[in-house]
Amino acid sequence: MVSDNKKSSIGEIPLEKLKERIQQIKKKRPGYGEILDFYQRVKEAQDRIKDSLKIDPIHLKKEWKDLLAKEGFSLIQKEDFPLDTESSVKFFQTLCQIGKEANPHLADQARKIEEAIDKKRIDLRKFLKKGLKEQRIEQVADELGLDKKVLLFLVHGSIKPSVEAAREQLRSELDPETWLKGYCPVCGSLPLLSLLKEEVGKRYLICSYCGYQWRIDRMFCPFCSNKEQESLHYLFAEGEEAYRIDLCEKCHQYIKTIDYRKLEESDPVLEDLATLHLDILASQKSYKRPVPNPWTP
Ligand SMILES: [Zn+2]
Ligand SMILES: [Zn+2]
Repeated sequence: MVSDNKKSSIGEIPLEKLKERIQQIKKKRPGYGEILDFYQRVKEAQDRIKDSLKIDPIHLKKEWKDLLAKEGFSLIQKEDFPLDTESSVKFFQTLCQIGKEANPHLADQARKIEEAIDKKRIDLRKFLKKGLKEQRIEQVADELGLDKKVLLFLVHGSIKPSVEAAREQLRSELDPETWLKGYCPVCGSLPLLSLLKEEVGKRYLICSYCGYQWRIDRMFCPFCSNKEQESLHYLFAEGEEAYRIDLCEKCHQYIKTIDYRKLEESDPVLEDLATLHLDILASQKSYKRPVPNPWTP
């Protein structure tokens, strides 16, 4: 297949290509082996269910589109995504199973969560019905003595296939090139990563919740909207010019940027996961990442 840079969205990467890339990274950085194996197993499981999802159509109201255009409100809210709850419940159980074989901490958490479901301390169906409600999940994690991050990861992971399928329904309603704000036009969430694409280096953000990508200015902090060149910097590691940490001196936060002019098409979340050493570097310099990679324990 001839790759067409202009059309390439760097979104859904075929599973085979993803697995090849994982092998490449593991050779270069064996320390990431365990987490990358886990990532691959979850992606394989996700791939198996995506064609069987049943997602209700979203009926967009005209007012919502007006609010998007005039006031900069996102099209819908996180809890408005139609989800296939039966599929999410099954996928949650699959994720727990994969987690049990991933590492001791995840195994311990997955067992505790399964026990809480068995004892009806968590009503899984109800829990997954309304999408990701962070506060509610954190509250449950507190009550049951669970690791919040793990529970959040499992909930978001299990509804993600539905969220992404629902997002696709809204794609034609939006122009990714003209939004230019620091939050997602689909659901209002903060970005997980930034990408540079095409020869001129157009910059895009990826939504941390629904995965939508939209364009922003090269000189722009998505977290405080700072546009001043003198307070926006970046750092990178030698020999790894495809990855950088974009820092803002105003809010002292950063976003990781993947430069697809220097890297073959690949899954951005995987590339983020394989460069956690850059996050350590940034945190040593006391910069905060508002939306950490959700795969980090
Ligand atoms: Zn979004
Ligand atoms: Zn900032």
